[in-house]
Amino acid sequence: MSRAPSDRSLARELAERVKTEALRVGFHAVGILDAMPFERERRVSLERHSAQYFTGMSWLTADRLRFSSDVSNLVPGARSVVSVALAYGSPREWEGGARGRIARYAWSTDYHAEIKTRLVGVRDLLLATSTDAAAAVSVDTGRVMDRAAAVRAGYGWYGKNAMVLTAGAGSWVLLGEIITNVRLEPDEPLLTWCGSCTRCMDMCPTGAIVAPGTIDARRCISYLTIENRDWIPRALRRGLGAWIFGCDVCQEVCPVNSHAALASGSRAVDPEPRLAEILMLSEPEYRRRFRHTAVMRAGFKGLKRNACVAAGNVGGAEELPALRTLLTDADPCLRGHAAWAMGEIGGTDAIADLNRCGAHEPDERVRDEIACALVVARSRAGRGEIKRGHP
Ligand code: SF4
Ligand code: SF4
Repeated sequence: MSRAPSDRSLARELAERVKTEALRVGFHAVGILDAMPFERERRVSLERHSAQYFTGMSWLTADRLRFSSDVSNLVPGARSVVSVALAYGSPREWEGGARGRIARYAWSTDYHAEIKTRLVGVRDLLLATSTDAAAAVSVDTGRVMDRAAAVRAGYGWYGKNAMVLTAGAGSWVLLGEIITNVRLEPDEPLLTWCGSCTRCMDMCPTGAIVAPGTIDARRCISYLTIENRDWIPRALRRGLGAWIFGCDVCQEVCPVNSHAALASGSRAVDPEPRLAEILMLSEPEYRRRFRHTAVMRAGFKGLKRNACVAAGNVGGAEELPALRTLLTDADPCLRGHAAWAMGEIGGTDAIADLNRCGAHEPDERVRDEIACALVVARSRAGRGEIKRGHP
């Protein structure tokens, strides 16, 4: 009995030191939660997994979801978790024209290392408390349900766009954790929610938010342009607009984000590269241009595939020479997406190129894309429509 109050005050004092240090090293928000399993999130995510909402993300298995719902899998005997949020990305309006869009979180160098570096000092503070102390850092590796941790830590709440919203920086935050067997006084969860707002659901270009807080990854532009290694479904391509890596629409329209204080952050990539440039990149150029950034996750062919779709949506004559080259690429997926884009851009040159390549195309799926593209381009031509920028 006599030890309980002192244990508690120790846990409170240590929690305060940890939070002070986390804020000192630049995290926008920090909170502490107990290490109990995320039961509700485990149940919900397994239901979504069964409903095929994560189809295509082969790494996101039911076993992995179970693992990430219990932090004691990372640190046996875990008692507490420190959850941190790092604000990112100054806003910039899309200039329009034949430029692709890259999601804001990818504008600077890959954030994993930066969050880890900042967390190491906080972790060492915990390790110094006793010789038995254990602590592990986790940053977006799917080993911890980081959104669930942020919500239980009391500095964020779930938006209907499935993002964690924070009071100061909205959803423009990157999350990380320290899991430890040291007892820290936990914070209280917030009692905040979206209310009657449905802006993100209404404005999602592909209808991917199928219920509040539920994203069908198969329709989500972020998944389609980053994780997806397959063809982008034809029915969704127009919805991609100019996005070539990720999508920020459900965050840009969120009223909580309109008041967000944003970090300045250095730029490692052009947020709006010219599509013609991306379409013509060589693989060494791609690696040099995007190394140490999250854009590498899309892969060389994935980024070019995405640029084809964006070119079909917002491109014109300037992109046709590069698309014509891709129409004879060794990769059928790139040939197919280039054909689609040329059909969308239309015009006599595009029709002639599609006809010529269609006659020799060995791949059935690409032949189908060429046939569909010709239908679209001819019907446009029949109506006298000429895509913007096309002579
Ligand atoms: Fe929809 Fe884009 Fe949000 Fe995905 S990231 S849910 S596509 S608005
Ligand atoms: Fe919630 Fe509205 Fe923001 Fe969607 S747009 S996350 S509903 S506040």
